[in-house]
Amino acid sequence: MDTQFILEQWQAVLQDMAQAAQASGRSPQDVRLVAVSKFHSAAAIHALYTAGQRIFGESYAQEARAKMTELPADISWHFIGHVQRNKVRHVVGNFALVHSLDSLELAHIMHNRAMRQGVVQPVLVQVNLAQEPQKTGIALADLAPLAEFLAGSAWIRWQGLMLMPPFFDDPERAKPYFARLRLLRDTLERDYGLALPELSMGMTGDFEAAIAEGATLVRIGTRIFGPRCSLA
Ligand SMILES: *Cc1c(COP(=O)(O)O)cnc(C)c1O
Repeated sequence: MDTQFILEQWQAVLQDMAQAAQASGRSPQDVRLVAVSKFHSAAAIHALYTAGQRIFGESYAQEARAKMTELPADISWHFIGHVQRNKVRHVVGNFALVHSLDSLELAHIMHNRAMRQGVVQPVLVQVNLAQEPQKTGIALADLAPLAEFLAGSAWIRWQGLMLMPPFFDDPERAKPYFARLRLLRDTLERDYGLALPELSMGMTGDFEAAIAEGATLVRIGTRIFGPRCSLA
């Protein structure tokens, strides 16, 4: 691991994020960086922590839990991977935000787990806007019952939406999906009388386009840490 490389990349990402925010008339403080550290070592995370980064995104509950025990307690861990039913107990109560709630069934399981633990779990709903069959995320057609359940849950705090758009070489082509996620958020806020301030969208290849369309959380891994390889 080359710490110097990681710190330079991180600085450059923060600069590009601020520039993208300003270019679209937004305040840089309104867009936060989730440094996606899956498959990267606790030492790499600690280097960024020392420089001031506090939000880290992980996709695998057990990998994340192992890192948590080694790293400072004031890190804000975000869970961005698919939540497997049998891993809910590792997720609820351990992450400041779960980006990837994507079914009513999972919402029931997370609600029950949070209630049993006596914790309120903040979540985003991941939406599969392009209806890509191989991708996770709830279909628009299934969203209403989930929204209704979350609006009434005392144990899940619904804070917004998350999107993984289809892959395009040209990030400009992802923009319509980012814009649709924002409009969907506006509609849900109106229909359910909720505040849903967070829009988690934008990764290494397209975060500037996502910020132009209203992202409040961007999830960036490769651009900061370099290519992912196994921890072993
Ligand atoms: C791995 C991952 C990212 C980071 O992707 P990069 O292209 O490496 O920036 C973002 N979001 C999710 C859901 C991921 O699984």
